[in-house]
Amino acid sequence: MDLIHKEYSINFTKKKRKPTNIKYLVFHYTGMKNEQKAIDRLKNSKSKVSSHYVIKRNGQIILLIPTLYIAWHAGVSSWKENKFLNKSSIGIEITNRGHQYSYQNFTKKQILSIIKLSKFLIKRFKIKKENILGHSDIAPNRKKDPGEKFQWKFLSKNGIGKWHKLNKKKLIKMRKISIDKNKLLKFKKNLIKFGYNKELKNNFKTFKNVIIAFQRRFRPQIIDGKIDVECYEILKSLI
Ligand SMILES: [Zn+2]
Repeated sequence: MDLIHKEYSINFTKKKRKPTNIKYLVFHYTGMKNEQKAIDRLKNSKSKVSSHYVIKRNGQIILLIPTLYIAWHAGVSSWKENKFLNKSSIGIEITNRGHQYSYQNFTKKQILSIIKLSKFLIKRFKIKKENILGHSDIAPNRKKDPGEKFQWKFLSKNGIGKWHKLNKKKLIKMRKISIDKNKLLKFKKNLIKFGYNKELKNNFKTFKNVIIAFQRRFRPQIIDGKIDVECYEILKSLI
């Protein structure tokens, strides 16, 4: 892809992977006050973290690690039957101060660059819609990024990631209405079917964190870790 600036990071696994090993796109935010420091960290050997790309506030896309090498962005993570997603994913960091330092809206230029870059990668590696994820989806106990301000709905209109087709007004009426025990069990099953960590079944804390991750992504208006009819219906329609 043209117009990509290259600033290589040394934080990657030296063994090359096959293009067919790449199945996921994972979005992150940098979560630091200073943009340049955040980019420097992704290149610094002491940090032991990196991503393939970073997208700056001004929309500039920087390639840190060529995609056939494994970058260190996901950490302990799981989705469907996959664990430790670094080996099967491409990591895209987007600069944003994050929840810890007054979380910002992503800029329009960032969103346009995300669309351009994602379309290129989806085509090149034949990445499925359901395999386009946020860091908090694959590590809900540890991570909040890219967070509820990430424009998943808008991206899905551009063919990037899943979204539901439910009516907005109808959904609002279901908001904060609690669900019965049967639906609760069904909701849990659906979360696992969708791809979230299987261990959530028996662990209350993990379960709540998964609900929060789900809400950040699909019901960003209220993130309270409580399942209501709106969350239930959204998840059902995604499966
Ligand atoms: Zn992250």
